Amino acid sequence: KPRKDCPLDKNELGRSSWGLLHTMAAHYPDNPTDQQKSDVKTFFSTFSRLYPCEWCSKDFTEDVRNNPVDPSSQEKLSKWLCDAHNRVNAKLGKPEFDCSKTNERWRDGWLDGSCE
Ligand code: FAD
Repeated sequence: KPRKDCPLDKNELGRSSWGLLHTMAAHYPDNPTDQQKSDVKTFFSTFSRLYPCEWCSKDFTEDVRNNPVDPSSQEKLSKWLCDAHNRVNAKLGKPEFDCSKTNERWRDGWLDGSCE
């Protein structure tokens, strides 16, 4: 029986969060202003520290510290985030995502029209 209106579990929270993060990166400007670059760096360091799953937050905070956000363009930010998500996938034993498909998945829709 489907659950309704329950608190998010760790996997639901993860899926929703990746959805927000990748969609944000997909719509980030090609030529960001200095303010936008600074905002996105602050966003990810703050997000990683506040993410409401204790050990996920601990690891992601360290990951963002070791692999700094690339805020220089939509392409660079989306690639940085895809690589970061792939590091989490590897940690969890999930398959690696092909980062050349990031804009199809999160911005344009699959080329075979399956999202229409
Ligand atoms: P998800 O990993 O949630 O991915 C959702 C969709 O994103 C996929 O269906 C796929 O279409 C797409 N996708 C997959 N990989 C990529 C990629 N590299 N680039 C672009 N798109 C991609 N869970 C834990 O158990 N332990 C942790 O330590 C942990 N840390 C996390 C840290 C963060 C910052 C976040 C946001 C989540 C974390 N999670 C963690 C949750 C975990 O990553 C998954 O969200 C959860 O396991 C559900 O996985 P899923 O198979 O539904 O796909």
